[in-house]
Amino acid sequence: TDRLFGGFRKTSEKLTSNLTEVVGTAKLDDATLDDVEDALILSDLGPSAAARIRERLRDKRFGLEISETELKEAVAEEIAAILRPVAKPLEITAFPRPQVLLVIGVNGSGKTTTIAKLAHLFQEDDYAVMLAAGDTFRAAAIGQLQTWADRVGVPIVRGPEGGDPASIVFDAVKQATEIGTDVLIVDTAGRLQNKRELMDELAKIRKVLGRLNPEAPHDVVLVLDATNGQNALNQIDVFKEVAGVSGIVMTKLDGTARGGVLVQAAEQYGLPIHAIGVGEKIDDLRPFDPDLVARVIA
Ligand code: GDP
Repeated sequence: TDRLFGGFRKTSEKLTSNLTEVVGTAKLDDATLDDVEDALILSDLGPSAAARIRERLRDKRFGLEISETELKEAVAEEIAAILRPVAKPLEITAFPRPQVLLVIGVNGSGKTTTIAKLAHLFQEDDYAVMLAAGDTFRAAAIGQLQTWADRVGVPIVRGPEGGDPASIVFDAVKQATEIGTDVLIVDTAGRLQNKRELMDELAKIRKVLGRLNPEAPHDVVLVLDATNGQNALNQIDVFKEVAGVSGIVMTKLDGTARGGVLVQAAEQYGLPIHAIGVGEKIDDLRPFDPDLVARVIA
């Protein structure tokens, strides 16, 4: 919790200072509501969430006196109302096993680290985990995933650099099935610069997976870097088109003032948010707790 609070501190400070400028007037009138809405937009919550929160505050409290503390609490409650419907932990329910998680996202978003963190979490819950090094495009990617696999202590299926990701995934599912793996986490290339190729590559992986198990991939998890702000949200549109997305992990919420994008993502896309990254270490992935996050942000 400390880390989470520390993590959202800058976002919270930003929203608080924006909200503090607002209150001073005693009654919640239209001018004050305008200012609240502006403060929310300035804090990266986005126009749509800001308007929604404004309307809810108006419905509940128009013309009433409101202190700064009450305003913050009211805003936190509305943020929580936006976040609650999308909070959805990754659950291992696939039968037959393995459950296949395809992890997608642009390079640098924290994809590899998030895969390692997820592997660690699942392992702590006594699931047998395996990784597949499906990002064969970047020279460093396979080695980096191998390093994490060794550190976490899970098997990894890898091929040569420049190899065919779909055939690696095919081998991985076969091996995972043989040794009774519960969760197979597949790394993928994150080169959005070449959308067509990435799309073809992911389609091929999906096709191979589907042939082995019509339910696979069970999850397509998009990793987004919160420090990218609005750009992170644009990536949702692109990856929905390129790969299909079943849920989100947002990383780097520690130390950024842009944590509000999490609310914006929830409000605009309604996609499940599985977890959040709050640091570089293996246990710095937190389940997404909407009430806690709302209280920390506002
Ligand atoms: P990839 O290129 O998407 O696979 O990204 P990496 O997993 O290699 O991560 C890129 C950088 O972001 C690394 O330096 C990671 O340590 C760092 N990183 C990943 N997740 C987080 C996070 O939640 N918080 C912070 N502060 N850094 C992170």
